Amino acid sequence: PLDPSTLTAFGNAAAGHDGVLSDSSGALVIKPCTAAEIAFYESVAASHPDLVPYLPTFMGTLQLSPEQQSTSIDTDTDTGASTPTPFTQPGETITTDSGFIQTAHGLERLHGRKLSTELHIVLENLTHGFIKPNVLDLKLGAQLWDNDAKPEKRARLDKVSAETTSGSLGFRIAGMRTFKGVKAPEVGEAIKNFVEKVDGEGGGYWVYNKMYGRSFNAENVVEGFEDFIFPGTKSQEDVERAREVLSYFLDEVKGALKVWEGKESRMYSASILLVYEGDMVAYRETKRLLAELAERQVDEEEEGDEEDEPPVRKLAEVKMIDFAHATWVPGQGPDENALRGIRSTVNILEDMLEDVEKES
Ligand code: ADP
Ligand code: MN
Repeated sequence: PLDPSTLTAFGNAAAGHDGVLSDSSGALVIKPCTAAEIAFYESVAASHPDLVPYLPTFMGTLQLSPEQQSTSIDTDTDTGASTPTPFTQPGETITTDSGFIQTAHGLERLHGRKLSTELHIVLENLTHGFIKPNVLDLKLGAQLWDNDAKPEKRARLDKVSAETTSGSLGFRIAGMRTFKGVKAPEVGEAIKNFVEKVDGEGGGYWVYNKMYGRSFNAENVVEGFEDFIFPGTKSQEDVERAREVLSYFLDEVKGALKVWEGKESRMYSASILLVYEGDMVAYRETKRLLAELAERQVDEEEEGDEEDEPPVRKLAEVKMIDFAHATWVPGQGPDENALRGIRSTVNILEDMLEDVEKES
């Protein structure tokens, strides 16, 4: 069970609201969410096994009291980028998957009591297993609101959509963070204030805010992808990594597209989250480790003995996230609003891969 006193602010968010947490192992993210998002993940687990590989693993839910959510979390931007700070107040742990709450006195059943707690979803952390995860959040849809949204919200989101690639391509870059290995410019100094802050010891992480992705149009949005795939130099090794990473992203996004095409769903403001290893030394090392593991696995199968689980190491990862406004609509056909954004993403990744293949 998760002990809320060990949760820390999640430092690898690329976009979205503040308040995302991680556990001490770093394997999980714990995110404030709506009941609709939980319901969506539960329905996927129950009835849509073909979608499961394209979503982060759903681990359950967690209720946190306001103190447990906010104690010592130091966030200062809407990118969610923050300094991990441990919670200082254990408080009473409340883990309700099944109507039980964990209190100082042990497990108690919830008898319909109203608690001043907030619902969180516990998911696999997609940036776990990376040394320097580069993260890109692509927000899907030209229509970004669901039927519950008030007229004001609809008008506000429609305006952003019309002014960005949300309208023209069905997706926009919602946020990005990349490891450049060099100090980010002071805010106001360069890139029109899009770079929010430098993260971590010695810096080197560039965190782009939501205005970055809003600045592109259909013709130049590929430049945003270029910034993501080539955050530093464009050496032979960078081009080689780009080829491998783009090829992986493309296969996965195409796979997801195929599955969603067969679903009668609606998702507004869901995202494709793309992650790859930003530290070239780590990338090289992970590649070697994974090759070694693959070999050892073959040996083990022959010998039949088992070893301890090796530490998770990843080169790239891509999943769909953010189902706060996702539902099933039986009989109403596929979600063309979200599909258009996924198809545009496929096209851009295809073009980039083609270019990179020419270069390598
Ligand atoms: P919202 O946009 O409503 O705040 P999201 O689900 O989009 O919520 O999450 C916000 C950000 O947190 C995302 O842009 C992403 O960078 C990060 N994030 C969300 N879920 C995960 C996950 N399972 N693993 C890693 N990062 C995640
Ligand atoms: Mn989001």
